[in-house]
Amino acid sequence: MNIHEYQAKDILKSYGVRIQEGIVVDTPALAVEAARELTARTGTGWHVIKAQIHAGGRGKGGGVKLAKNLDDVRQKSEEILGMQLITHQTGPEGKKVNKVLIAEDVYYPGPSEVKEYYVSILLDRGKACNVIMASTEGGMDIEEVAEHSPEKIIKEWIDPRVGLQQFQARKVAFALGLSGDAFKEMVKFINALYKAYVETDSSMFEINPVLKTSDNKILAVDAKVNLDDNALYRHADFIPLRDVTEEDPLEVEASANDLNYVKLDGNVGCMVNGAGLAMATMDIIKLSGGEPANFLDVGGGANAKTVEAGFRIILKDPNVKAILINIFGGIVRCDRVATGVVEAYKAIGDIPVPIIVRLQGTNAAEGAKIIDESGLKVYSAVLLKDAATKVEEVLAAM
Ligand code: GDP
Ligand code: MN
Repeated sequence: MNIHEYQAKDILKSYGVRIQEGIVVDTPALAVEAARELTARTGTGWHVIKAQIHAGGRGKGGGVKLAKNLDDVRQKSEEILGMQLITHQTGPEGKKVNKVLIAEDVYYPGPSEVKEYYVSILLDRGKACNVIMASTEGGMDIEEVAEHSPEKIIKEWIDPRVGLQQFQARKVAFALGLSGDAFKEMVKFINALYKAYVETDSSMFEINPVLKTSDNKILAVDAKVNLDDNALYRHADFIPLRDVTEEDPLEVEASANDLNYVKLDGNVGCMVNGAGLAMATMDIIKLSGGEPANFLDVGGGANAKTVEAGFRIILKDPNVKAILINIFGGIVRCDRVATGVVEAYKAIGDIPVPIIVRLQGTNAAEGAKIIDESGLKVYSAVLLKDAATKVEEVLAAM
C-alpha cells in the first residue's frame, strides 16, 4: 500500500527519524494558517508548498514550490491545489492535487554547505536480505544516476536475523563522505530509519532527498513509504491511511471483491486462477498476437460470484475486445466454473465481446459440455493452445 508523503513523515517521526516539519491542508486559507504555525514552531521564514499525490517527480512537474512570505504561500497553494499534476510517474493524464503539505524551508544558508543525499531501504529477494542504498547524488535526478553512474549508489546488505549492525550504519555514513556532527547525525538517522522500516513491515522506504542542513542536521525532506499489504493485519492504525482516490478505480473494485487485478493496456481481458497460470496466459495471448488488457487472478476458490465480479470489472475496460477465461480445476471443479460462467453471462446480460473459456483439470469434459450447450456466444477450448488460436481467430475477424 502506498501512502502520501505527509503520512510517511508522521510515521518516520514517531520512530525518531528527523523530518522536514510540515502541516497538511486542503485550502489556501488553511495553508496560510499552517505557515504561521510553522514559523512559530520552527522559526522558519520561508515555506515550501508540496503537492500530495502518490507519485514522485513532483518538483519537476511544478508540484513543489518555495514561498518567501505569507502572500506567496497563499498564491502558490492556490496554484497547486486542484491542479492536474503531471510527472514521469503519473502518466499523461496526471493526478489531481487535493492536498498540499506546507513545510518549513530547510535549505537555509549557514556555516556549512547544504547537501542532498539519497537513502532507501528495500528487500533484496535474491539475497534474502534487506538492503540500504545510499548516494551522494540525491535530489531530483536519482534515476539518471542509477542509469548512467550506478557506481555512485552504495549498497549495504542487512541480514534480518541479526539486524542492522553499528559498523554498517557507520560504513554508509562514511561512504557518503560525512564527518563530525553530520556523520553522527547520519548514523542516528540510518538507525532510526531501519528500525521504522522493520517495525512497520514496509517493503520500501525511499528518502530522496535526505538533507544535510547548513547547521549539520540530517533530515528527511521527502518520504516514499510502501507498506506491505500482507502485513496490514498487524497494523490496524495504517488502514485509514489508504487513499483510494489515488488508485485505479477498477483495481479498487477488484480488491473489494478479493480479486487480484492489475490493469494493463491491451485488448484481451483475461480471468485466470493462480498467479503463475495468469502469467502463462498473458504470455500465450502475446504469442498469438494479442495484448493482455489485464492480469486477473480469481484465486483458488473461484465460484459463480467471483467469476461474475471478474467479468464486470473486465467489461468496464473499454479496450477489451475479447475475454479469455483460463481455469485449472484443482480445488474448484470445472463444471462448477462453467456453471458460474454461464450464470454470470446471463446475469450481466448481453456481453458484447466474444468469450473463450478454457477449462482443464477435474471434470473438464463436463465443463466444456455445459459451455457448449448453453447456447451463448461462448467458445470452449480444452488445450491452452486451442484457446490462443481462438483468441487469434476472434481478433482477426474484427
Ligand atoms: P519530488 O520532486 O516529488 O521528489 O519532491 P521532493 O519532496 O523531493 O522535493 C523536490 C525538490 O524540492 C527537492 O529536491 C528540493 O530541491 C526542493 N525542496 C524541497 N524542500 C525544500 C525546502 O525546504 N527548501 C528549498 N529551497 N527547496 C526545497
Ligand atoms: Mn523526492
